[in-house]
Amino acid sequence: MNEHADLPSFDVHIPTRVLFGAGRLKELGVVPLYGKKALIVISSGSSMRRFGYLKQVQDLLGSRGIDSVVFDRILPNPILDHVTQGAQLAREQHCDFVIGLGGGSSIDSAKSIALMAQNPGNYWDYIHGGSGKGAPVPNGALPIVAITTTAGTGTEVDPWTVITRPETNEKIGFGIPETFPKLAIVDPELMLSVPSDMTLYQGFDAFFHAAEGFIATAASPVSDLFAARSMQLLQKSLAAAVRDGSDLQARTDVALANTLSGFVESTSSCTSEHSLEHALSAFHPNIPHGAGLIMLSEAYFSLFSEKIPDRFIELGRIMGMDVDQAEVSERPKLFVKALRAMIRACGADTLKMSDFGIREDELEVLAANARETMGGLFSMDRYALSDAECVELLRRSYR
Ligand SMILES: [Zn+2]
Repeated sequence: MNEHADLPSFDVHIPTRVLFGAGRLKELGVVPLYGKKALIVISSGSSMRRFGYLKQVQDLLGSRGIDSVVFDRILPNPILDHVTQGAQLAREQHCDFVIGLGGGSSIDSAKSIALMAQNPGNYWDYIHGGSGKGAPVPNGALPIVAITTTAGTGTEVDPWTVITRPETNEKIGFGIPETFPKLAIVDPELMLSVPSDMTLYQGFDAFFHAAEGFIATAASPVSDLFAARSMQLLQKSLAAAVRDGSDLQARTDVALANTLSGFVESTSSCTSEHSLEHALSAFHPNIPHGAGLIMLSEAYFSLFSEKIPDRFIELGRIMGMDVDQAEVSERPKLFVKALRAMIRACGADTLKMSDFGIREDELEVLAANARETMGGLFSMDRYALSDAECVELLRRSYR
């Protein structure tokens, strides 16, 4: 028993060098890197080529004599087979390090590929949860560079990677100390091309990483600072970035919020909202992760606001609500009120689970999947949800 349980006590370890700011991609040409040959991991879409980002990265590497190979198969919900293939390519081509270029799915895949380039067997041998075997990772990972062209997951400054095994409907997060990127480049100019709907979904993903990190048992005074600032920046500027993607000030606010929410991931944790969302998008891969979270969020945070009111009073203050003027019983509810207003301001209040093909009769299966595959995050909740409450929460979110 910790005799100082009521006093702050925490660990902060974020070993990623971050280059943040408009125009900073070009420093890839001069910043210390990790060898002579890079595997560049990008999505199967056309955007990294179309917008010239891939060529810029290859040219910057080439200008300093670094060779590169491209792996371009990553799906929006990255799958196990592509981790296996990417790692094989990295080994065959004797790559010294791995660059994830793009959104969260490309960077997460780069992490998992970097891990499997160094280790035997199948990636799922090392995964904890679901049908993963939970074996220790013997050889770490190749060095990872994250160049983010979206603002959503914060994955550029955390060790976590989420991969789906489609055959078993498992979408599971994993990470080891070596899957922290060694270098992250966050250049908001690369985000000007993100379409409005993706800006919206990714921005809310960052928001919920911060909000969940704030109510998780793992929260600390340090993660609280990152989380509060992240939520405030998104409340201020996400709607503007959704409306006008060319607004560099709004893009920069959202990018900063995203990186701060990555720091939250590295110093606190997500909670069971993410377990529930992973179940939705494991069974329905057409659901953008952030859209899933938005659809769950009102019911989820309403339930927790009743169970842990003190944290929610703080959350209401962070969101600028006049907590002290409200009736005592109303104070914990003000965060959800602010969240609802933000969702509406961003035009996301029309999202419906039924529009993504979710059926009401599968909610029990989804709730069970959330606990089977991502049970760990339930232990981060300050209130232990029962199975019945998870189903009820999905039912309340269902439209
Ligand atoms: Zn997320």
